[in-house]
Amino acid sequence: MLRPVCVMLALVVSAALAPAAQPQAHSPTQADEDIARIVGYSMTRGGALAFLETLSDTVGGRITGSPESRAAAELILKTLKDAGIDSAHLEEYDLTSQWRHGSATGEVISPVKRAILIGSYGWVPGTPGPIEVPVTDFGPIGDERASIPARVHGAAVIVDLRSGGSSSTYVGARAIIARRLAEAGASAMFIVSDKPDRMVYTSAFGFYPRAPLPVISIASEDAAFLRRLIAKGDVKVRLDVQNSFPGPGKERNVVADIKGSAPSEMVLLCAHFDSWDPAQGANDNGAGVAAVLEAARIFKLLRIQPKHTIRFVFFSGEEQLSNGSRAYVEQHKDELEKIRAVFNVDSGAHPPTGFAIHGRQDMEAISKILLKPLAPLGADRVFLDADFDSDQETFIVAGLPIYSLRVDPQDYDARHHTIIDTFERVDPRMLAIHTAVMAVAGYSFANAEQRPGRRLSPSEVQELLKRTGLEQLYQLEYSAEKPQ
Ligand SMILES: [Zn+2]
Repeated sequence: MLRPVCVMLALVVSAALAPAAQPQAHSPTQADEDIARIVGYSMTRGGALAFLETLSDTVGGRITGSPESRAAAELILKTLKDAGIDSAHLEEYDLTSQWRHGSATGEVISPVKRAILIGSYGWVPGTPGPIEVPVTDFGPIGDERASIPARVHGAAVIVDLRSGGSSSTYVGARAIIARRLAEAGASAMFIVSDKPDRMVYTSAFGFYPRAPLPVISIASEDAAFLRRLIAKGDVKVRLDVQNSFPGPGKERNVVADIKGSAPSEMVLLCAHFDSWDPAQGANDNGAGVAAVLEAARIFKLLRIQPKHTIRFVFFSGEEQLSNGSRAYVEQHKDELEKIRAVFNVDSGAHPPTGFAIHGRQDMEAISKILLKPLAPLGADRVFLDADFDSDQETFIVAGLPIYSLRVDPQDYDARHHTIIDTFERVDPRMLAIHTAVMAVAGYSFANAEQRPGRRLSPSEVQELLKRTGLEQLYQLEYSAEKPQ
């Protein structure tokens, strides 16, 4: 893959020259030199790609709490240590609820006999052995508080969350409907997959620590088939979903520092390493882990010492309830004031566009200045909108300045949490650019004269959540650990 890398490097170099149409008036500063070396190594070393291949092919899918998740943490740790980053270590935390992903099979048994393509959501129970139940169609969710018909009792219920125009967020509506169907005695909830090519989807958002009934993704083609049958009469399916909950367990984050020359403050570069297991978790979020890890190795290799410390944090548990980042914030609560900024990458390796600052208007002007070195990489835009889509939620709630990498998502959504989140679909050039973007962001913020923003007080955080429309999701996620 030498050629594409060379072509891309030429593009990056020409892009770098573009804004400075007028000749540079001054000779390069130390920062100019450092950034040029960081970007050069990011583009030419191939380190992120090599690590991602190892992670994808030797560990593969890594569900939180699984032996594969432990293996991933140990691989990250070993890779950092091998690079000479002696500060690298594991930080263990308690996981309230472990989950084992068993097989999920389904077939229509009446009026015809036909296998259907299904897949389990995460942190949902299995069926009590194989069950034979009627199927009923709940249809699109217009309002998750609408009355639940009696016919759902004992049935597998098809629910369409795609086109409902629900009053709540997608995740919120899904969790609320699951609870209400369970209360009404439904045997299972079929959520119609919005993936192409008969693929199913998985997620645990809104279900951790334990969903109230088996929640099952059904391929849209198979749901359409069931609906055609239902239109003509009664339909029965046989379902066998074999998930289990082994109880509480342990998980771990991996943390490593490139120590600053004046290490009174720090910048965090973060990515989550847990994934789903129908595939390799290559783009979500092996790519982010590989970029952040390679950034750490490049600082070490080039002996670049920033003014303030750059800390590299690899979280587990993101896919459940951002458990890893929550544990980090709890375990490091005495040093949160030292954090200048947190950078999180969980976007897939697609063309970068900039960073979301999640409603922090107070950080907008200064962020535009501090992100300037990322202009040649196309990653200097500042987005004000806020989301809870990854570990940023933990840092938003903690009131810290948090930057989430934004990209042009291309086909990200079609692959996300499916059987095709595999290594060879990750674009090596974009992975190299993400490495450069994260490293340069860390470098610039760690060397900046001023901090991008202050830590918000708890009441200011609540005001921010209200203003950005995240309040309902916050209530759902921050009450989720309560027993159900
Ligand atoms: Zn992710």
